[in-house]
Amino acid sequence: MHCPFCRHTDSRVVDSRTSDDGLAIRRRRQCPECGRRFSTTETASLSVVKRSGVAEPFSRDKIVAGVRKACQGRPVTDGDLAQLAQRVEENLRATGASQLEANDIGLAILPELRQLDEVAYLRFASVYQAFENLDDFEAAITQLRAEDAERASSAE
Ligand SMILES: [Zn+2]
Repeated sequence: MHCPFCRHTDSRVVDSRTSDDGLAIRRRRQCPECGRRFSTTETASLSVVKRSGVAEPFSRDKIVAGVRKACQGRPVTDGDLAQLAQRVEENLRATGASQLEANDIGLAILPELRQLDEVAYLRFASVYQAFENLDDFEAAITQLRAEDAERASSAE
């Protein structure tokens, strides 16, 4: 790590701490040449392998863009979408994997979207899981109802 002040090519880590969301490590460094201190932030890499086999860096923006389509006309704010994308990223990072398949991302989005808006969830699931007819929707809705009922009875 180059010193940003004198461009010395080495530096010493004097302190490391994990950011509040647990996604990055912030290091305090000191230059042995000029003695000045500076901070760096390091994020563990997370990449997504597309169907074509090409890997690209994980992007919260892409999650937001994908989910936003399913949320058209629904009472979902940009803040909701940003929070959803953050939770999806946290859940994916918590698995410890550094490389994911596009499929894993969709699977991680579904439960979060369901909590946000059931209609948007059904729309997203219909595209992602390639629903072909009304029976597929009916099965998904039946499952939602059964899980809602289960949740309601366990909350009593
Ligand atoms: Zn320096």
